[in-house]
Amino acid sequence: MLDGLFKPRGIAVVGASANPYSIGHIVIKNLSAYGYKGPIFPINPKGGHIRSFKAFKSVLDVPDPIDLVNISVKYSLVPAVLEECGQKGIQFAIVHTAGFKEVGEEGIRREREMVELAHSHGMRIFGPNSQGIQNADPEVSVYANFTFVPMKPGNISIIAQGGGMGEMLKLHLHNVGLGHRMYCSYGNECDLSMPEILEYYGQDEGTRAIMMQTESFKDPTAFLEVASKITPHKPILAIKAGRTREGSVAVSSHTGTLVDQARMASAMYRKAGVVEFHDTHQMIKAAIAFSTQEPPRGRRIGMITNTGGPGIQAVDVSVDHGLELATWSEAGRARLAEALYAEASLGNPVDVVATANADHYHAAVETLLAEEDTDMVLVFFVTAPFTDTAAIARRIKEATEASDKPVAVVVETYSELYDLIDKLRQSDLPVYEFAEDGARALAAMADYADLRDREKEAAPELEVDRDAVQKILDGHQGREGYISQADAFEILEAYGIPVAKVRAVEGEGDLIAAAAEVGFPCVLKVDSTEVVHKSDEGGVVLGISSPDELTQAFAEMNKNFAGKDAGFVVQEQRPGAREIIIGATESPGLGHLVMFGLGGIFVEVMKDVAFALAPLSRPEARTLMRGITGFPILEGVRGELPADLEAIEEMLLRVSRLVADHPRITELDLNPVLVTPKGACAVDVRLGVG
Ligand code: ADP
Ligand code: MG
Repeated sequence: MLDGLFKPRGIAVVGASANPYSIGHIVIKNLSAYGYKGPIFPINPKGGHIRSFKAFKSVLDVPDPIDLVNISVKYSLVPAVLEECGQKGIQFAIVHTAGFKEVGEEGIRREREMVELAHSHGMRIFGPNSQGIQNADPEVSVYANFTFVPMKPGNISIIAQGGGMGEMLKLHLHNVGLGHRMYCSYGNECDLSMPEILEYYGQDEGTRAIMMQTESFKDPTAFLEVASKITPHKPILAIKAGRTREGSVAVSSHTGTLVDQARMASAMYRKAGVVEFHDTHQMIKAAIAFSTQEPPRGRRIGMITNTGGPGIQAVDVSVDHGLELATWSEAGRARLAEALYAEASLGNPVDVVATANADHYHAAVETLLAEEDTDMVLVFFVTAPFTDTAAIARRIKEATEASDKPVAVVVETYSELYDLIDKLRQSDLPVYEFAEDGARALAAMADYADLRDREKEAAPELEVDRDAVQKILDGHQGREGYISQADAFEILEAYGIPVAKVRAVEGEGDLIAAAAEVGFPCVLKVDSTEVVHKSDEGGVVLGISSPDELTQAFAEMNKNFAGKDAGFVVQEQRPGAREIIIGATESPGLGHLVMFGLGGIFVEVMKDVAFALAPLSRPEARTLMRGITGFPILEGVRGELPADLEAIEEMLLRVSRLVADHPRITELDLNPVLVTPKGACAVDVRLGVG
């Protein structure tokens, strides 16, 4: 329970001084300015008063109970302060002070000692190198934070790793008059963890949606567990910093993270039902909608406009984001025809025309919201000088009252009419200045609803030979790196993953016998941990149709790889087919990520791959397949028969089960898997163990 942190009965501020630019002073100023409901105790060895509060020399001198302390003294003084706080029975310490993990070895040690000390008193540390917390709940109204954005009660709670980003999220909610509920920027996360705070937000009745920003995940498993529990009843909107290699370097300069975490984060968000954003602006715009609107029941959008262009723009963005244009019933169309001007267009978007008055807007909004096949409505409104704009704004709101379908309003106006926007916002409608923003915010709401209502199943039980794989892996005990293809194919077979028939050949002696087993035409391949891209080095000969050809190819390849530690395999040649890639990589702290994409030589250029966390459930495997842009190619284009999607799904399930069962497999690459209209079969495998 984090009540002591977010609803403290009393707060001490250590490091409070008369200097108005000191962190302690600002915390006291913020606590008092926003009407903190409990007592505030500045702690200063010199005593005296800070602002209008009497300062104590030590927390031990304070007669009243204190739940929370804000500490901003230099790191070398922190242990002594914590010792006293511990003796006082304080539950939570927000450590603003820097100079810990972020400065390296020495700081890591300091951090560890600080946590040990705190725990010996049953106290928890928030931070260090953190900005603090806020709770705008009028019952507590606590601004235990040294920043500047005014606090006003709202229903979006914010959790951010970095203070700068957290503040930005808060600021833009403030700028549209929304305020926020709880806020925290947790910095180094040495003790009290992000998932613990998230869980607390999840349980808070005053929190309607959560916005989060992270740079790195300290405990991904805990996050996954907590987030999965929250999203069925409360949306979580998330952004992860450091998605590009360059961005990740910028992040790691102060927290130490990896670009692969971004992929892991996306996979984790999907598994947990979290709505991911790659753009802060869009996340905030979506949060504004979530703050007052209910998620839609489907993806069909209806639009109303009084001018053509922006409507078209919104249609484009909506379609790009997977929304569908709603169509109206006969009755709905008749109602529109009756209510609107004769020049109005009654399709989607409904164009009420520029001279439309308040009643026209009212009728259009009400009609679309009543339509069975419309899940959400976007209203565009340019404030034409020849209409009563204030009345229009009022009537739009009135028209939404009987429905719980989400509505967003886009207002195109100039600064002197901004009070219109304010009025609409005060009436609890999300208002945007660009048609695209409105469309994207509604699309994000639909995404949340889809994630919330997605099919949830456990990963299926599969018949596999776990021991056989264990035995092969044991044979590689103590050795890291790639294993032979012969072994790797055997591992795949033990998990029921279809592979091309393959035989290892030691030398020319067993060549013909091996070929007889796999049959002609066959393929000869080099099998060496030193050769990564076999065909680039002349290590793959396809379409061998006779023993003579095989002997000749073998002689050449043998010469080619003389001096390398290389063996060879003979493999059955599979008929022409579409090539896909299925892979898995270890994801530290969270098992494995399964990768799916279209294979072939362009995979590295197109980067059309999707990821999901192992082990996969059936619905997850299906979503993964559909997560690539090239999916329609598998469904069959221009008269081609569709690829065997069920076979791919089965293969994904089995690969994901294999890596989940055997964490020693650090890397697995089936490239390509050949897929025909009937069946899928791996012809190349690379398997690394750690
Ligand atoms: P590498 O990826 O190391 O160059 P592969 O074993 O993947 O080597 O072979 C290269 C390409 O040859 C594959 O992408 C595939 O197009 C083709 N190929 C390989 N083995 C077979 C096979 N058994 N049947 C049909 N085509 C094959
Ligand atoms: Mg290959």
